[in-house]
Formats: sequence, C-alpha cells, structure tokens
Amino acid sequence: MLFPTTIAGSLPKPEWLAEPNMLWAPWKSKGEELARAKRDATMLAIKLQEDAGVDIVTEGEQARQHFVHGFLEKVDGIDFAHKVEMGIRNDRYKAMVPQVTAPLTLKGRVHADEARVARTHTTRKLKFTLPGPMTIADTVADKYYGDKVKMAFAFAELLNAEAKALQADGVDVIQFDEPAFNVFMDEASDWGIKALERAAEGLTCTTAVHICYGYGIKANTDWKETLGAEWRQYEDIFPAIAKSPIQQVAIECRNSKVPLDLLALLPGKIIQAGVIDVASDTVETAEDVVKVIEAVSKFVPKSNIVATTNCGMAPMRRDIAEAKLMALGAGARLARQRLG
Ligand code: ZN
Repeated sequence: MLFPTTIAGSLPKPEWLAEPNMLWAPWKSKGEELARAKRDATMLAIKLQEDAGVDIVTEGEQARQHFVHGFLEKVDGIDFAHKVEMGIRNDRYKAMVPQVTAPLTLKGRVHADEARVARTHTTRKLKFTLPGPMTIADTVADKYYGDKVKMAFAFAELLNAEAKALQADGVDVIQFDEPAFNVFMDEASDWGIKALERAAEGLTCTTAVHICYGYGIKANTDWKETLGAEWRQYEDIFPAIAKSPIQQVAIECRNSKVPLDLLALLPGKIIQAGVIDVASDTVETAEDVVKVIEAVSKFVPKSNIVATTNCGMAPMRRDIAEAKLMALGAGARLARQRLG
C-alpha cells in the first residue's frame, strides 16, 4: 500500500491526565492513580489514531512529561534536585535542566509499561520514539564527563539498551528524535550521526530519525523567521545520514521552507514526510495533504513515502489535533486514489 500514515510521536494529553495546551505539563495525579491515567490515555491515543486511519501508531507519548526528560527520569547519575539554567539549541530557549553528576546508568526499563499497553491494544504497526543522544546532550548540564561527545555516547549506550527492550516488547519502528541535528550541522556530521548509530546498533526492527524545526511554540516560530526564505540546513547533514544504516528520515514538509529537492540527497531512504503542520491551528484538508505528497513524490519514489505530522502535537488543543489526525488519514487515502 502506498503512503502509509504515522504521526511524529506525541498527541495532546487529556485534561484529566495533565494540564492541557502546554509543554512540560504538570501531571494531575500521582502514584497508582497517575499510572492508571497514563494507561487509559495511552489506549485512547491508539484508538484515536486507528479511527483516523493511521497505519503505524504510537502511544502518543502520554506517559512522559517531555520527550527528553521522560527518558532522563529513569537514568541514574543525573541530579534532578539541583537544576541549572542553560541555553539550549544554540540559546534558542533558556531552560532549567538537570545536571549529570556521575556515570550514567539505567535504573531499569524506561518505557516498558506504555509499550506493553500499546502492544496489547493494537494489531497495527507500533512506532516508539526516543530522544537522540545529541539532542539529550544538548538538554542537560554536564558536571561529570567534561566532554559533550563522551557524554552523548554514554547516553547512546543507554538508549540502545532501551531500544532493544522495546523491540523485544513488539515495537516495529524505533524513531530517534534529533532536533539538534539542524542546529549543530557540523557536529551532527562529525559525531552526532555516529552516536545515533550507536543508539540503534543491533536493532532488527525498522529504524528512523526525526529531525525538525520544532513544536509550534513561539521560540520556534521566532527562530524560523531568522532562517531566511529557504531552509537549507539539511543540505549539510543529509549526505552523512544517507551513508548511515538508519532506514527512515522524518522531516517537516507542510508549510515548511525546506526545499524538497534536498530529499534527493537521501537515496534509498524511506521518507516520513510531514504533511500536517503542527505550528498552525488551521486544519488541513485532504487536498492539502495530497499536494504535499505529490510535491515530495517528485524527489522520492512513491513507494518510499510515509505520510506523517511535521512534529509532535503535544502542546496543541485536543480537538484540533484530532481533526488533523482525520485529515492525515483522509489525505493519504485520497493520495492513493489520485497518485496510485
Ligand atoms: Zn519534531
């Protein structure tokens, strides 16, 4: 089947689970009650995707507060009690981040609960997202390793252990999110992609990397204004990604200034093309989705295109996110009729 659909990863959380319409949303309950709420929300996230016609579903990242810190919470060697302010993504945001103070080790499984709930309640292909090592290294303060690359590879080892466990749980696609790749292009080519490969080492399931220009929050939309008429950051990193064994590359294509001809730098890769804008509350029509798929198909063989959302939908209004899911499914169906 042409143009199977997926989502970048996250969906908004129900208001009974966490504060709505924001990143880093505080939980509404704790202990066993929170664990049950996360489980219920995970099942709901899957149901919404199935009903919209999403073929490769995720758990909607309902069980983590943030895509990076959801992982870090299960890592020993990090001091969460004494956070420090740090500029991240080249000072695009100031954030209070935890500090690495000792050798990094996993406390145990990170995402076992939600992966198993998701696997039990869907027969569709299941994708699971993890933060990439370079992005993690850009989102914590190092007070131990004294070397960003060394620390990133330490995280890559932990990610690899969790990724292998997720694969054993029945996950079909592991996607690493590396929004830092289009901020630190030279470092991404020098070591970021190697760290990513370390994180994916030995996996036999499908592997993917999601690079993007971020959630639809103000810091990101302001940053995008400074990037000029054409976003050519990928030109520097795609050649290195093309050589890596990572099978799929997810990038934003809807309302994006990424010149789509850059996709020709990724021969043989499956392209998860973002056809839904997460930085706008305007809900796409099926026709809008078809237009993006058609544009991408000029540079990528149709059989290598997966339709997805530009980025996570965590901070969006739920009704809008759900309407956008429906547009994604309807648009891919229409594209199969028109372009198949
Ligand atoms: Zn993203």
